[in-house]
Amino acid sequence: PDLLTVSGLTLAYPGGTRALDGVDLRLGEGEFLSLVGPSGCGKSTLLRIIAGLLAPTSGTLSWGRRPGRGGIGFVFQEPTLMPWARVAANVRLPLDLAGVPQAEADARVAEQLARVGLFEFESAFPRELSGGMRMRVALARALVTKPALLLLDEPFAALDEITRFKLNDDLLALWRAEGFTAVFVTHSVFESVYLSSRVAIMSARPGRVVADIPIPLAHPRT
Ligand code: ADP
Ligand code: ADP
Repeated sequence: PDLLTVSGLTLAYPGGTRALDGVDLRLGEGEFLSLVGPSGCGKSTLLRIIAGLLAPTSGTLSWGRRPGRGGIGFVFQEPTLMPWARVAANVRLPLDLAGVPQAEADARVAEQLARVGLFEFESAFPRELSGGMRMRVALARALVTKPALLLLDEPFAALDEITRFKLNDDLLALWRAEGFTAVFVTHSVFESVYLSSRVAIMSARPGRVVADIPIPLAHPRT
């Protein structure tokens, strides 16, 4: 079944830039979709609309299943951690905002930190961690609410190549273990093919999905 069907989506920014111009895209339940395309083709805009952070000018988003209580997780290129807060406090922020009781929140933060391999770092401050570790904190924060959908906007682009490869495998392991649907925006066709069961390619003018390619050899979820 489909989690989401995007039909005829257009978005014009104030000032007139037509960032999206008729985007059609289907997202299957549990799928790992990569979205590639040249800079400025509207990838971030599309993610922001799917996340509900931006309203489209026209077109529809049709949810097969509402993302529900866990909502939608979002990971940006920068980990955007609170520098004054310890790792555990950064990860529990969405649970605090949702009013999850303290004991349950503590347990879920500990479990999620273990899943990203940072259990011993719960009391560290972000500045004490490497770039790859900070990104794993951001992944833990995005997943701690158990979202149905995880949106990732070039999350590993600022990391060195070896760290990026490691995080690709970490992300795949999380996807296999936790059951969320993922949309992964990247500049790297290599990365998209490595990670995904499907790659959608966007063009800039018009801002549209112009190819949609299944990747039969991508890591199956077992
Ligand atoms: P991508 O993520 O593929 O690089 P974006 O979605 O960021 O593309 O941008 C698509 C187009 O919309 C670009 O031409 C960009 O300059 C423009 N754009 C993005 N954000 C804004 C904004 N807040 N206001 C005006 N134009 C914007
Ligand atoms: P990188 O992001 O630099 O590739 P990883 O996130 O893969 O590093 O971390 C590899 C391991 O090295 C970590 O699990 C941790 O044990 C150790 N490590 C890396 N950076 C630090 C640090 N700043 N402080 C303490 N241990 C670290």
